[in-house]
Amino acid sequence: MRVIDKASHGIDQAAISRAALSVVHRLREGGFEAFIVGGAVRDLLINGQPKDFDVATNATPEQTKALFRSARIIGRRFQIVHVRQGREIIEVTTYRGHHDSDEAKPSTSKQSEKGLLLRDNVYGSLEDDAKRRDLTVNAMYYDPDDESVLDQQSGLEDIEARLIRIIGDPATRYREDPVRMLRVVRFSARLQFDIESETAEAIAVCGPLLSEIPAARLFDEFLKLFMSGHAKSTFLLLCNYDLLRYLTPEAAERIAKEPRYKQMVTAAMQSTDQRVRKDRPVTPAFLLAAMLWPAVQPRYEALAQAGEPQAQAMNSIGQQVTAETCLHTAIPKRFSIPMREMWEMQGKLEARKPKRIVDIMSQRRFRAAYDLLLLREQAGEQLDDCGVFWTEQQQLNPDVVGTAPPREDSKPTRRPRRRRRQ
Ligand code: ATP
Ligand code: MG
Repeated sequence: MRVIDKASHGIDQAAISRAALSVVHRLREGGFEAFIVGGAVRDLLINGQPKDFDVATNATPEQTKALFRSARIIGRRFQIVHVRQGREIIEVTTYRGHHDSDEAKPSTSKQSEKGLLLRDNVYGSLEDDAKRRDLTVNAMYYDPDDESVLDQQSGLEDIEARLIRIIGDPATRYREDPVRMLRVVRFSARLQFDIESETAEAIAVCGPLLSEIPAARLFDEFLKLFMSGHAKSTFLLLCNYDLLRYLTPEAAERIAKEPRYKQMVTAAMQSTDQRVRKDRPVTPAFLLAAMLWPAVQPRYEALAQAGEPQAQAMNSIGQQVTAETCLHTAIPKRFSIPMREMWEMQGKLEARKPKRIVDIMSQRRFRAAYDLLLLREQAGEQLDDCGVFWTEQQQLNPDVVGTAPPREDSKPTRRPRRRRRQ
């Protein structure tokens, strides 16, 4: 284990959250080992501002919980403790150990036939824990007392070489948890680090394992991939590594085949990144509306050609595309409903009915729907200068945009849900 002293790493303790430090101290006073670990140490070393702070300890979740009034044990596959300190939540994880150790029991260790870890709650030492983390750059431990960094996996070397490297044998680690492939891509995009060659090569073989991951977990990961200010480079890497198909299969296929769709989604990602950087509000609904448009558009065109009224056509397509996507990436209703509203407004924007202009512009989703329309035109859809038309209309009526309260009839029509019997 390499111990890096303060003079060599230069981390300034003032950049570390007081809440995280106090959690470490409390655990140590309770007689346990505790360190700041993971992304925070990585970002401190790279000179970034850590987003959140994680703590690793040899206290079990129950022992941790007993030390803090505000602690909650969460998760099943991978149990952690959330400790609330003021407004911050510090994630405390117990050192993980090896699944072939004596500590492994059916209640703590469970693996599928393909090697997927269904339960990852075997505890171990700090040395074991470092080996069980995902990337070398994520496996460093900061000791707030002597201000040293413990680096067993040569994380600092990889930071200096700007490399994302998985710890251990890449294929085995991806089989245990295929989401690690998405994490490799995400950190490579975010830090602008290259992916080390073996870490990269195993993705081609292990990619299909992502279809084993529950759709709800993939949606959580989707938000991290695309809502953190690096959506564009993440998206392009996902395309290069052919991983997009496990998140949004139909759209991914079209994006792979038709450059104009790739260009359109790239532009949507870029504008989301710009908004994130400027601290302006961003909604996953718009990103999803743009990302899934390559799946929506061909169906929409086919139905419109068959003469089906546009509003109805878009309603049923929206329903189908949402349902199919949710099998892979579970989009919560609070995002899928506005996403479908943005799609449904496309027909209204294209129709340009004079009597409806002010009403359409006043609708809550107008701006997002208009942005989507512009992206479609940029991607080469022939819409007879519809974008220019709506740009002019907004200049003529600058005060009406988005002023209407949410209306019942602006929501996609849904069948009344049957109450599930208890
Ligand atoms: P972020 O800044 O996005 O929070 P992070 O590195 O802190 O980045 P988290 O998802 O908060 O990422 O995870 C905290 C730490 O837990 C990681 O740094 C890594 O050491 C470990 N970790 C997270 N997910 C996995 C995983 N799937 N497999 C192994 N280790 C993981
Ligand atoms: Mg973190």
